[in-house]
Amino acid sequence: MVSTLHYPVNQEGHLTIAGADAVELAKEYGTPVIAYNIDLVRQRARKFKDTFDELNVKSQVAYASKAFSSIAIYQVMKEEGLSLDVVSGGELYTALKADFPPDKIHFHGNNKSYQELEMAFDANIGCIVVDNFDELLTLRQLTKERKQRMAILLRVTPGIEAHTHTYITTGQQDSKFGFDLGNGQADEAFRLVYDDEYIEVLGLHCHIGSQIFETNGFVAAAEKLLLKMQQWNETYQYTCPVLNLGGGFGIRYTDEDEPLSPEIYVKEMVLAIKRLSNESAFPLPEIWIEPGRSLVGDAGTTLYTIGSQKKIPGTRHYVAVDGGMSDNIRPALYQAKYDAKVANRMTAPTNHIVTIAGKCCESGDKLIEDLSIPEVQTGDILAMFSTGAYGYAMASNYNRLPRPAVVFVEGGQSQLVIRREVYEDIVRNDLSLYESEEK
Ligand SMILES: *Cc1c(COP(=O)(O)O)cnc(C)c1O
Repeated sequence: MVSTLHYPVNQEGHLTIAGADAVELAKEYGTPVIAYNIDLVRQRARKFKDTFDELNVKSQVAYASKAFSSIAIYQVMKEEGLSLDVVSGGELYTALKADFPPDKIHFHGNNKSYQELEMAFDANIGCIVVDNFDELLTLRQLTKERKQRMAILLRVTPGIEAHTHTYITTGQQDSKFGFDLGNGQADEAFRLVYDDEYIEVLGLHCHIGSQIFETNGFVAAAEKLLLKMQQWNETYQYTCPVLNLGGGFGIRYTDEDEPLSPEIYVKEMVLAIKRLSNESAFPLPEIWIEPGRSLVGDAGTTLYTIGSQKKIPGTRHYVAVDGGMSDNIRPALYQAKYDAKVANRMTAPTNHIVTIAGKCCESGDKLIEDLSIPEVQTGDILAMFSTGAYGYAMASNYNRLPRPAVVFVEGGQSQLVIRREVYEDIVRNDLSLYESEEK
């Protein structure tokens, strides 16, 4: 892959990230390290929010935090006035640790445990996105027992197949998520709770996929969901105030990707919903969206140190780095494509075609195939771009590799926000067979 994308370079010929020299970052924090351009994160967050404001629509932009969850990123989103999606007790715990306003937290998931739901009630979060009948019944019970109100959205599968990678599509009928919109399940769910004493039905939610580069899928979904809310309005005289269209806005991983700007996604959605609402005389709902990848994905760059190389004449030239599928499983899991450059040789001619290999004991642990780079040697720094979403979040200790450090860079200044794991962390939960003798 010959990249034609341009990345900022300083006078030393080094890559810069939010104004900081990437080679210096690698030196200071060690490698692998994931460096986030927080200037870019803030810029994206504002674009999503401001576009709704400019169009005069009530909205909530919720950061879908499974993309990258940490106390510091939650603090950034809080500063930017965003809401927050969590999908587990662990993410909720992290949000509360970050002092995220509970009323702006939304809880997702297809199998929330009783204990996780109790945690959400204890924290008095803003909304639970209900996924199935079992959860709905548990919620009815919990609200009654605790005499505590809870706002909910009903997650539905609208049967829309977004244009994206099939492994990560969730909007089709055959999905583990949500009530089916077409076969009456969503109607049944609504009928069960719309007049409940404690449960307040805010409206409908769908998430039609990920890494989507077109707006027509969102518009089609909005149409289906709005029609359903309008039907319920006629049948039950109940007006749902919220329409949540999920996330999935695409980003650029390689120069084959051509994402739309946040403004375009939001504008097209809003215009369609305004038109539909006008046509049907159904009051314009609040519009909620849930960007994950598009807030943090291309803001993240992983810096690795290059180690050994293996040349198989006529076949392949492997260049290995000091991380791999343990800090980024997406290439192995989804055949995800990435771009990379040698951070300390940004101006050198890229005349070698190599495969970037990780250091894990799996032949499939290849991060990038057929990448054009300059001649490299041990100690050079490889910068792999757009690793900010579903990278660290999916990291593991496979081969007992410690998880990398994470730093935030803003206006040229860097700050450690997740410490690199050390070997002591690796054995933290291990118990010795001979524990009693050792003590
Ligand atoms: C994963 C997810 C998102 C975010 O998806 P991105 O592709 O990261 O924008 C939003 N909403 C729901 C319900 C999700 O599961």
